[in-house]
Amino acid sequence: MSNTDTHDPTSLRTPIVAVLGHVDHGKTSLLDKIRGSAVIEGEAGAITQHIGATAVPLDIISSIAGDLVDPDDFDLPGLLFIDTPGHHSFTTLRSRGGALADIAILVVDVNDGFQPQTLEALDILKRSQTPFIVAANKIDTVPGWDPNEDAPINDTYESQSDRVRQRLDESLYEIIGNLSDEGFSADLYWRVQNFQRNVGVVPVSAMTGEGVPDLLTVMMGLSQRYMKEEMEIDVSGPGVGTVLEVKEEKGFGKTVDIVLYDGTIKEDDTIVVGGQNDPIVTEVRALLQPRPLAEIRTESRFENVDEVGAAAGIKVAAPELGDAMAGAPVRVVRDRDLDEVIEEVQAELASIAVDTAEE
Ligand code: GDP
Repeated sequence: MSNTDTHDPTSLRTPIVAVLGHVDHGKTSLLDKIRGSAVIEGEAGAITQHIGATAVPLDIISSIAGDLVDPDDFDLPGLLFIDTPGHHSFTTLRSRGGALADIAILVVDVNDGFQPQTLEALDILKRSQTPFIVAANKIDTVPGWDPNEDAPINDTYESQSDRVRQRLDESLYEIIGNLSDEGFSADLYWRVQNFQRNVGVVPVSAMTGEGVPDLLTVMMGLSQRYMKEEMEIDVSGPGVGTVLEVKEEKGFGKTVDIVLYDGTIKEDDTIVVGGQNDPIVTEVRALLQPRPLAEIRTESRFENVDEVGAAAGIKVAAPELGDAMAGAPVRVVRDRDLDEVIEEVQAELASIAVDTAEE
């Protein structure tokens, strides 16, 4: 498929990606590596640090992925990684009762294999029906490994000794076997034809960056092929999002950090936010993004933006946010009926309460 066909890239929203896995298997390191590679490839400003998330645009992904990605094959704008890895953020962050993340990366240490939180993550992914891939991480710790900084997996695999390759293969097949025990048909990602039916396993190192080009390519492919319909939303419609955190911010009072997963939010928009008691109806005073590090001197850590579109992480300053709750829905009213929007927020809050009670 090429972008000469029916789709205007600006009408597709960015898929939201979450990272899950057992403690110490490398979730944070992998996110850092992706962010780091994107900064280097894109020079300053190309990736945007959002509130609570990192946006990696398609052109940066294609320059990291090199020959693996032809940007003409994709028409999604890129990927938005939620910065807080782990199961708690995944289960508390919801969109309309489903998972907030569209796709996930399950990180498994190749040497340590499946651990209790790996199984817990699989269970969460299964229940939420979130498409995912497995990052078989820390391949650089296979005894005798000869690292090739940031190389695609095929190149670095070919340059290893037979003994090293065999050791890695054994670990990878064990992971594939474990996935199969849990009811997931899985294989090494380059053997997977249908990512809807099979889970792709991507060998990576968050330390050396080996396999990261492959990981990004597979994530783009997965979103592109199987989720495009869901990404085709009215990106200019009234925004819908989820509260990540409620924070006191000097000069702004109580603010909410949100992930916007649908539509747009603008300064002066009336919004409805889920609260501890009744839904809060308020008006957006300011939309704030982190200021690039280089520009922070005596100025505020944030810069104002007039408007953002999905998917994005943004800080919203507005009056009356004292009662807002993490995990609660946020909806922009704009030309809609206020009572209707309040009802939707109430209904979503009720469904969150039921889900939490079940857990
Ligand atoms: P998290 O708990 O899943 O977020 O794991 P971290 O990202 O904090 O990683 C746990 C430890 O493993 C840290 O000491 C990392 O430096 C190390 N680590 C993570 N990924 C790799 C990798 O690919 N190779 C090696 N050698 N160490 C890694």
